[in-house]
Amino acid sequence: MKGSLFIISAPSGGGKGTLIREVLKRLDNVVLSVSFTTRPMRQGEEHGKDYFFVSHEEFKRLIEEGEFLEYAEVHGNFYGTSRKIVEDKLNQGYDVILEIDVQGAAAVKKLAPQSISIFILPPSYEVLRKRLLKRGTETAESLKTRLENARREVKCYKDFDYVVINDKLSDATKALLAIFLAERQKLSRQASKVEPIIESFDND
Ligand code: 5GP
Repeated sequence: MKGSLFIISAPSGGGKGTLIREVLKRLDNVVLSVSFTTRPMRQGEEHGKDYFFVSHEEFKRLIEEGEFLEYAEVHGNFYGTSRKIVEDKLNQGYDVILEIDVQGAAAVKKLAPQSISIFILPPSYEVLRKRLLKRGTETAESLKTRLENARREVKCYKDFDYVVINDKLSDATKALLAIFLAERQKLSRQASKVEPIIESFDND
């Protein structure tokens, strides 16, 4: 049975990284797809774990070779989802999370309409600004770009299947887990488990 594709988007600083880590800790059989990026590595990040950090030339070559399921320019850097990583993991039966921006989300939803898209919305602009400042990863200029982009990105919430408001982490984690669990109970996901049970009712 193939796994499902979950697309998760949020404005930068929206807390999706933390929420996704909670889901990965609490659920089996789900993996996060590691993207490629031209963004410089931040302190504490690891190549192959947070991203595959590549040069612009390498990124261009990967585009030409058709390596990406989707790619986009976000906040002045390029980010791309590996087609191979996603397909391999789905075929192995894992649910795969794509932590991508709203442009990437729209592209993947078009390619794979059965994928499940979730928008993580901060409780307000002011909370988002404070979270980004507290994170301390951005220069003044990059902070400005990310906040400007956030104003545009939040308006895309309407294109998603689900919206989770990330106010209190524990509540948002529960809401996100509920989406994964509900999707896994769908008839289409359960056929191989359900059929033998139904057959057992005929075998007496
Ligand atoms: P950051 O630089 O903070 O890690 O990520 C910036 C933005 O790029 C986030 O909104 C993140 O979701 C998005 N992003 C990360 N990987 C990808 C990807 O493979 N494709 C697209 N379209 N966006 C991505």
